Amino acid sequence: MGVDTTATPVVKPEPGELGELVRDLCSARRHWMPSGLGNHLHWGPSVSVETTTLSMARCNRLLEHAVSDFTVTVEAGLPLQVLQQELGRTGQWLAVDPPPGEGDSSIGGLVARGISGGLQHRYPGIRDQLIGLSLWRADGVAAKAGGRVVKNVAGYDLMRLFSGSWGSLGLMQTLTLRTYPLPPARCWALVQGPFAELARLRAALLRSSLTPERVDWWSESLARRHRCSDGGAGPLLCIGLASIASQALDDQLAALSRLAPSCLRLEAAEQDPSGSAAAWQPERGGWLLRLGCPGADPVALLDPVSGDPHGLTGGELCWGAATGLADLRLAASVRPAAVADLRRRCRAAGGFLVVLQAPDQAAREAVPSTPPDAVSLAIKAAFDPLKLLSPGRLPGGP
Ligand SMILES: Cc1cc2nc3c(=O)[nH]c(=O)nc-3n(C[C@H](O)[C@H](O)[C@H](O)COP(=O)(O)OP(=O)(O)OC[C@H]3O[C@@H](n4cnc5c(N)ncnc54)[C@H](O)[C@@H]3O)c2cc1C
Repeated sequence: MGVDTTATPVVKPEPGELGELVRDLCSARRHWMPSGLGNHLHWGPSVSVETTTLSMARCNRLLEHAVSDFTVTVEAGLPLQVLQQELGRTGQWLAVDPPPGEGDSSIGGLVARGISGGLQHRYPGIRDQLIGLSLWRADGVAAKAGGRVVKNVAGYDLMRLFSGSWGSLGLMQTLTLRTYPLPPARCWALVQGPFAELARLRAALLRSSLTPERVDWWSESLARRHRCSDGGAGPLLCIGLASIASQALDDQLAALSRLAPSCLRLEAAEQDPSGSAAAWQPERGGWLLRLGCPGADPVALLDPVSGDPHGLTGGELCWGAATGLADLRLAASVRPAAVADLRRRCRAAGGFLVVLQAPDQAAREAVPSTPPDAVSLAIKAAFDPLKLLSPGRLPGGP
C-alpha cells in the first residue's frame, strides 16, 4: 500500500547540517526520502512506509560556473530555471527542456529522475551531461565521483548510477554538469497531414544534413492542447530548429519544405509551441506514462489503447521521433488492462513502459512495476544496507 508523500514530515536542512542529519536518521533507523523541490514526489512507485522527507530546497547555491570550460557546479536544490537564467548571462545553458507541468525542477530531482524531454534528439540526456557529484550514503558516509572537468574519467561512474535512481541510493548534494552555447536563433516547424506522409518526412529528415534540436511526434489531442490543430487532422511533427543566425534558420526551413510533400501543411512558429507550462498540466487523476520504444511505429503501438481510427488521438503523446522516448497522458477512464497491454507491446518491441502516475492506488497496483534484477538489488544493498532510503521506490524492489 502506498503512503501519501504530502503527509510525511519534511526537514529542510542547510548544506552544513546534511551530514549530521543523515547520520541521525541512520542511528534512529528512520526511513527517509530525498527531495528536491517536492513537485513530483508522487510520481513512480509509491513509498511503502512512513518516511521523513529530506528536502534540498535550502541547498540551492550555484557554486562555480567555469565559463570557458563549459561546466557548472551547483547544489542539488537549485531550481533549473534559476540556473538557466544565470547561465544565460554568459550565453550558455543546460541543454534540457523546461519542466513540464506545475512548478520548477531542482537539478538534483531532475538527475534523480533521469528523464528529460525532446532535446535529447540533439543533446545528450541528463545522465550524460552530469560529470561529477558529491553525495551522502544512507549511513551518513560522504562520497564523491567524477570531477569538474569534462575529460575526468577516474573512479567509479556513480553519475550514471545516480541518474534515474529515484532517491533510492543516496542523497546528492552537489552536481557538476556540462553546459552548452545558447543558440542565438530558434524557430519551430509544425507539420501536419496524412500519417504515412509524415512518417516519410520524418525518415527523410533523419537522413538529411539538417540537425534539428528536436523532432517530436505529437498526437492530435496534444496538438489541440497546444492550440496547434483544429482537430481531425491527425498527429503532427513538431520540429525545433536552432542556429547561430536567423538567415541560417530560413535556409533550414526552406530545406525542410523541399523535403515535405505538398499534401503536408507546414507552419513556422517563432515561439516554442509547447512553451506554455500551463498547457502541460497532466490531467488530474489520469495516467502519466513514460515509454521508450526506438524504431517502433507510434500509431501501431498505441492504436489499441486509444481505440479510435486515428490511433494517436486518444492520449496526449509526445514521442521523440528518433530517440523513441515518449511521455503519454491518458484519461483516468483508460483501463489498467489497456496500459498493461501497452507495456507488453512495448516490451515485445524491445522497449519499456513506466507508470509515473496512475488514476488511483488500485490502478497503480493493477500495473505493477517490473521487479528489479539481481544487479540492481545488489547495488541497493551496497548503498543502503539498512533499506532506509525511499522504501518501495526502487521499481518493484525493497
Ligand atoms: C516525460 C518527462 C520528461 C521530463 N522532462 C523534463 C525536462 O526536460 N526538464 C525538467 O526540468 N523536468 C523534466 N521532467 C520532470 C522532472 O523529472 C522533474 O522535474 C523532477 O522530478 C524534479 O522535480 P523536483 O525537484 O520537484 O524533484 P522531487 O519531486 O522533489 O523529487 C523527484 C525524485 O528525485 C529524488 N530526488 C530529488 N532530489 C534528490 C537528491 N538531491 N538526491 C537524490 N534523490 C533526489 C526524489 O526522491 C524523487 O524520487 C520530465 C518529466 C517527465 C515525466
